Amino acid sequence: MTKPTGTNEQTLLDRAEILNQRIQEAKKHDLYPYMHSSDAVKGVHVTVHGRPMLQFASYSYLDLLGHPKINAAAKKAIEEFGTGTHGVRFLAGTTRIHVELEKKIAAFKKTETAIAVASGYGANFGTISSLIGRHDTVISDKLNHASIVDGCILSRAHFVRFEHNDMAALEKALAEAPKNGTKLVVVDAVFSMDGDIINLPEVIKLCRKFKALLMVDEAHSLGVLGKKGTGIEEHFGIDPKEGLIDIKMGTLSKTIPSIGGYIAGSTKLVNYLRHSIRPFIFSAPIPPPSAAAAKAALEVIKDEPWRVEKLHKNTDYFLKALRARGFDTLKSQTAIVPIIIADETKALEMTRLARSEGIFIVPILPPAVQPNTTRIRATVTAGHSLQEIDLAINVFEKIAKSLGILRS
Ligand code: PMP
Repeated sequence: MTKPTGTNEQTLLDRAEILNQRIQEAKKHDLYPYMHSSDAVKGVHVTVHGRPMLQFASYSYLDLLGHPKINAAAKKAIEEFGTGTHGVRFLAGTTRIHVELEKKIAAFKKTETAIAVASGYGANFGTISSLIGRHDTVISDKLNHASIVDGCILSRAHFVRFEHNDMAALEKALAEAPKNGTKLVVVDAVFSMDGDIINLPEVIKLCRKFKALLMVDEAHSLGVLGKKGTGIEEHFGIDPKEGLIDIKMGTLSKTIPSIGGYIAGSTKLVNYLRHSIRPFIFSAPIPPPSAAAAKAALEVIKDEPWRVEKLHKNTDYFLKALRARGFDTLKSQTAIVPIIIADETKALEMTRLARSEGIFIVPILPPAVQPNTTRIRATVTAGHSLQEIDLAINVFEKIAKSLGILRS
């Protein structure tokens, strides 16, 4: 769907009208795939418009939503602090639970300290825009998340984007950056549309060579990468205590069944951020029950390592089986699995048909991805059984053959 922008009011309204017509047309043919509300969610079982379905589009990688310990922690926090804070953390909105959550995040990510803000989006754009300014350079992977891109633009630093996961391109960008000012390299750990993993060892090497700061977004690697699910450093066998990643960002809204984002790092940098991130200073925080849920979830990840193990097994099974049937899943190595359809109409049709067979998936269309890479983005979690994964793959194969996406 295109964004309705314009240079004057008339143009804006025209574009809004075109967008509305497209939405109406899609809805008429039952091809509008977004914002369908669920009536009930239990693990991977969802009910959408009264129809039971298997969820293959959620970020609940470790199937923690509804975990009794996490729910109990949220309920206890409601009893103690209610449902909100009536104000920003900086002034009167900090509760004991926020402080405990930040300590827990720092311990999990093995950093000196951490700060939690109300969204991952705010954590990214607030951090990047407050760390660097017009005399600095920010270098960002081309497939980084929108919240990183927005932070780079807002910072007014010299903004360079390098080809996705291309280390020669990153080296060139670093070599060409002005000598003066701070250089900040920002990368996603796992890319949210492709499911592939950044070449972190090489990125670290280059950052050290060119004396650049490194920020890594772990939205889709927390709970996903590494045997214990602690993230990308564990995946590559890098000791977090070496402090090779200066700014570790993550969200509390994906593996962690809550809301919010965090920045973990050195006391020096994080304290600076505590006094400068605008979404922290000028916007209300994570509600106490959600903060308590996030803290409890980090404890559950540690206490129940079988969840990460099962996620890894399911991911491996899902990817291998899809590739064996002939689907193009790009270079995914994680629970995010793109299934390339290329044709927009076929992607919408595949979504509709899969849902009619009880498999909930979402299409990703341009401009979110390149036009020739329109895809279904399927996610697998620790909550799926192998039978459920097989069921979904059989449905995908049958539909793909009927639409001519796979050869019969
Ligand atoms: N970074 C990445 C890589 C993401 O995928 C997202 C959410 N889709 C965010 C940041 C923003 O996180 P949140 O939804 O918690 O604001």
